[in-house]
Amino acid sequence: MKPEIRKDYFKDEYVIIAPGRGNRPHKTINAPDPVGVCHFCPDGMHHEKVTYHDNGRTGEWEIISVINKFAALEPDNHSAYGQSEVIIETRRHGMNLSEFSVDHIVRIFNAYIHRYDALRAMPGVKHVIVFKNEGGRAGASIPHSHSQIMALPILPPKIEKEAREYNKYYLENDSCPYCDIIKLETGRPRFIWEDKHLFVLAPYASDCPYGAWLIPKRHIRRISDLTHSEKESIAMALKIVLGKMDEMGVSYNYFIENSVNGEDYHMHIKIAPRPNIWAGLELGTGVIINPVPPEEAAKLYRGQIELDNKIES
Ligand SMILES: [Zn+2]
Ligand SMILES: [Zn+2]
Repeated sequence: MKPEIRKDYFKDEYVIIAPGRGNRPHKTINAPDPVGVCHFCPDGMHHEKVTYHDNGRTGEWEIISVINKFAALEPDNHSAYGQSEVIIETRRHGMNLSEFSVDHIVRIFNAYIHRYDALRAMPGVKHVIVFKNEGGRAGASIPHSHSQIMALPILPPKIEKEAREYNKYYLENDSCPYCDIIKLETGRPRFIWEDKHLFVLAPYASDCPYGAWLIPKRHIRRISDLTHSEKESIAMALKIVLGKMDEMGVSYNYFIENSVNGEDYHMHIKIAPRPNIWAGLELGTGVIINPVPPEEAAKLYRGQIELDNKIES
């Protein structure tokens, strides 16, 4: 394939898909140190302010949310108002999310939803973001599976731009861009996986190698609208996609994109591997070179699914 400049489905954003040009993700230390005690281990915690806990069947916590001790934003700081919490996804040190059971991932999503709703209700909060960093290059400093949730007193420009371009597309087409992406990519080479509730694809103008989007088939605005079955579908898809990334040794982020201020939107999850240090063109212009065509990424993930099915049967 020759290099191609591609525009996003509906946003004014461009990438250059250029196979073999630039660095593919290379193995990072993504297999966390299975031993040791960290700040997120039950024995490493001291006086944490717990805002949510899920004790499962054991009676001891299995998933908790705590106020981030090293937070950039705090409710009593008028110069940097907000709240920052860490959702510790397991009491076991050194596990990756893809190794959890579907039920456990559903419970992690229940924790996200509880804290998302609570932080949205804080006075003066304009936006709440839920995200996960896994692996050294993605910015995670502790090899203990966790996510973060932050309440911001401002609407970040990137989120505002997404909402503006979503609304523009809706006005011009009388339909939702994400509902349309599902229709457009069904049966196409960028398709990765689907079931009754969820559609997974490698986006046409992916700004990172092996990037993937998880879009619920139902047009819902935010994470709190997910049903139990929809959460199970998300858990299965995360196990497929993140399992492959773990196998390749690629670190990643994922972000949950929700409606702004309860306005119309189509909630979805974007998975972004953190492959390489950005080069000059990317830093200087914002135009990104992606050396892995999304079609190739989708094929790789579908191969993983076929492999999983073979093992099961
Ligand atoms: Zn730990
Ligand atoms: Zn939609």
